[in-house]
Amino acid sequence: MRRQDIRNIAIIAHVDHGKTTLVDALLRQSGQFRESQLQGDCILDSNDLERERGITILAKNIAVHYKGVKVNIIDTPGHSDFGGEVERVLRMADGALILVDAFEGPKPQTRFVLTKALEVGLKPIIVVNKIDRIDCRPEDVVLETVHLIEELGHADSLDVPYIFASGRAGYASHDPLARSGTILPLLDMVLEHIPGPVANVEEPFQMMVTSLTWSDYVGRIVVGRINNGRVKPGMKVAILKKGGVQVTSTIEKVELFDKLGKVEAEVAEAGDIVALTGLGDSEIGDTITDTAAPIALPRTEVDEPTLSMV
Ligand code: GDP
Repeated sequence: MRRQDIRNIAIIAHVDHGKTTLVDALLRQSGQFRESQLQGDCILDSNDLERERGITILAKNIAVHYKGVKVNIIDTPGHSDFGGEVERVLRMADGALILVDAFEGPKPQTRFVLTKALEVGLKPIIVVNKIDRIDCRPEDVVLETVHLIEELGHADSLDVPYIFASGRAGYASHDPLARSGTILPLLDMVLEHIPGPVANVEEPFQMMVTSLTWSDYVGRIVVGRINNGRVKPGMKVAILKKGGVQVTSTIEKVELFDKLGKVEAEVAEAGDIVALTGLGDSEIGDTITDTAAPIALPRTEVDEPTLSMV
């Protein structure tokens, strides 16, 4: 069964192609800045656009709500140095926005992460960005990106949906000559073309630790997408580590990503991307499961432990 109330998408771009600016436009236009909801160091002032912009850069996972659907947008590290991490992060998503500068076209980082995204089976949407640039060549860039997808062995590359955008001016359109509008057609495309997550809610709980973060108050925070089942605060779980080692632990807090921050939840279920506390022994690549069904998920090849921000 697939959930219809959620979409998990990765955003892929070469540096400077406008990822941060585009995500900011999505947040701002989907009305997420009206309340100051951010946990942590910064309180958002809805009039302070400069500050809003700066903050997105710090948030690895954000969520916007659109037409009754929660869209989790997962930032992906763009460098090959991150090896296994890219793959793990991409595995949280079902689709990917391939953001490409309308003048520059696809670049090495686009290629690197796109290769991984197609390998893990994500549905791509091409977003040709910065179409406000006078020197832009949006239609050529669509073709170049389609060809790249084709070259990477994606048979149905001609069916890949695409859209034109100016993240900076805050619009997206099917018309490469558009010069105004809203960014929201991009979210319509996500709802239409990216499937909701496969979610076996009635199975025993199972998720992989995709990233870790840290807070002075609660210690280690484990982030991942729930593969199966449900998780609640107070639940006893097994942490399945390398070499068949298993430890038992108790979940303290369950949080869901919301806008730029996180909110506590009484329950989270398959398909959700969660942040869990109370699992001090867990590392990236471990599987967290129901104690009654300790079945590990396959590890990605490179399992370097990294502490990253969420
Ligand atoms: P990131 O590295 O992919 O996160 O890129 P940023 O969002 O930080 O943008 C990189 C640069 O491109 C900045 O100077 C932005 O102002 C500029 N930029 C971003 N979006 C657009 C756009 O839609 N049009 C134009 N002309 N410039 C943009």
